[in-house]
Amino acid sequence: MSRVIGIDLGTTNSCVAVLEGDQPVIIQNSEGGRTTPSVIAFGKNGERLVGDTAKRQMTVNMDRTITSIKREMGSTYRKSIDGKEYSPQELSAIILSKLKADAESYLGEPVKDAVITVPAYFDDSQRQATKDAGRIAGLNVLRIINEPTSAALAYGLDNGHSQKILVYDLGGGTFDVSVIEIGDNVIEVLATAGDNHLGGDDFDIRLTEYIVEEFRKETKVKLAKDPVAMGRVREAAENAKKELSYQTQTHINLPFISVVKNNPVHLDMTISRETFNHITEDLVDRTAGPVNQALRDAGIAARELDKVLLVGGSTRIPAVQDKIVGLTGKQLSKSVNPDECVAMGAAIQGSKLSGELMVTNKVNDILLMDVTPLSLSIETLGGVANVIIPRNSPIPTRESKVFTTAANFQKDVEVKVYQGERRFTRDNKLLGNFRLSGIKRAMAGVPQIEVTFDIDANGILKVSAKDLGRGATQQIVITASNNLSEEEIRRAREDAMRYENEANSNQEKIDIKNEAEAYVYKVEKVLADHSGELDKKQAKLIKSDVDYLKKLVCRNDINKMTDIEAGQIKEAYRALKESAAALERYM
Ligand code: AMP
Repeated sequence: MSRVIGIDLGTTNSCVAVLEGDQPVIIQNSEGGRTTPSVIAFGKNGERLVGDTAKRQMTVNMDRTITSIKREMGSTYRKSIDGKEYSPQELSAIILSKLKADAESYLGEPVKDAVITVPAYFDDSQRQATKDAGRIAGLNVLRIINEPTSAALAYGLDNGHSQKILVYDLGGGTFDVSVIEIGDNVIEVLATAGDNHLGGDDFDIRLTEYIVEEFRKETKVKLAKDPVAMGRVREAAENAKKELSYQTQTHINLPFISVVKNNPVHLDMTISRETFNHITEDLVDRTAGPVNQALRDAGIAARELDKVLLVGGSTRIPAVQDKIVGLTGKQLSKSVNPDECVAMGAAIQGSKLSGELMVTNKVNDILLMDVTPLSLSIETLGGVANVIIPRNSPIPTRESKVFTTAANFQKDVEVKVYQGERRFTRDNKLLGNFRLSGIKRAMAGVPQIEVTFDIDANGILKVSAKDLGRGATQQIVITASNNLSEEEIRRAREDAMRYENEANSNQEKIDIKNEAEAYVYKVEKVLADHSGELDKKQAKLIKSDVDYLKKLVCRNDINKMTDIEAGQIKEAYRALKESAAALERYM
């Protein structure tokens, strides 16, 4: 089995790690960064950019740049680019492909298997969508694990003594809180709670709105109508937010942000930490509910906590840290890097799952016990959610309940599966539905229909129903309508592979062209510098090869270069190398 990588597929940044010996290490990306922005862009010629390169060009290519796609996982969102509709799974797969390629270049071998993390609060369809994204990227997803659990795993590896910790994970787009008990090599999640739509992005949006409004009051210029200007403000807002984590005030300076009556207008503003705290206070307050709920569900008081572990870039915001101290009364542990520990935990779990035999490895001794974040129910009469598996049940798990019919001689029943905590199903999320038909003819209330929910270690649900009267079972795999079908995943995988092949062949052409071009200049320089020492006839021959290759290289626009043209360059380059072999000693 090849090495297993651990991937933290974040809303704003992603990170990949692998286990070296018995320690997880972060894999640097091809740009030298330890995390990769989760940004995808489609260039004008259809080329795809991922990570730093995509982020850098964002403000000038807004409508073809995609950020925070994680927020759309499991939804019906589609992005249309050049007539093709991309699902969140396909877009996430583009990020995963880059992480996979970076890991392959670091390890020097192909990577097949991965553990990918998701917010603990991700529901069934979001988990399924993440798994599908992995498959589209050509990864065998061994396990989907929860981000806070993963962080606890990285933390617990070196802090194995018995303790209860609260993991407070505020990333770019999601908020998760988990209460975890680290015992004798057992990491047990006691409870988890969170908010799928709360994260650093919301702080950026608040600050952007504030800046735009203040600017409007001062200059009467409405930036909101100008997407390029808005892109610049948003970028500046995120930087300002980060600076305010270390400084009490920050300066925003955006020259030429707009034009009024042919005169340029500049944006120049100072923002204090106090102002930032004031305009984002309600966002920080929103984290209190899930913290209290997780403690309640775990059945412990805040004072019983040994530690609070901070995960996610947004926990660097001082007001957030103050809030946690206020809520728990605990000092905060900064022993793990909030940006890296999730991927590290995933790498640990990956190594454990791969069964890599390491006799003395502490990883293999750790047992991980996770829970399901939201209650799973089916709809019964009056739209009431009848819970089959309550939230915070340890996974994997299997539960059954027997239901009956509401009308006489009912031949079939519709089973609708929901996820969420509300009493009425209309307030919860519909995961899927199916019809169980062929029920034995009987009066209302007589048939016995057993519905079984089965959650695997990834937190993904399968549902089956059985008419006990007939004894026949109907196995149904729940797939929410938002999720991709097997056929769609297969097609998306083929598309991704085709693109990878094209990108590789394009890269090959770029490499050939660049190499040939560089060689032409070297030969030209030698010809010029050593003209007196060279045989005239030979120099003339070389010169004609140089001219021919130069013509080919200059003629070809790299984005339109055909395989035949690339072949011609390769051949001419080979010919020049042959004729200019004697000059190599001068190069
Ligand atoms: P993550 O998803 O964990 O990578 O978190 C990314 C989020 O953390 C983004 O919204 C970042 O803007 C935010 N972030 C990163 N560094 C800081 C910082 N120093 N202060 C405030 N927020 C930060």
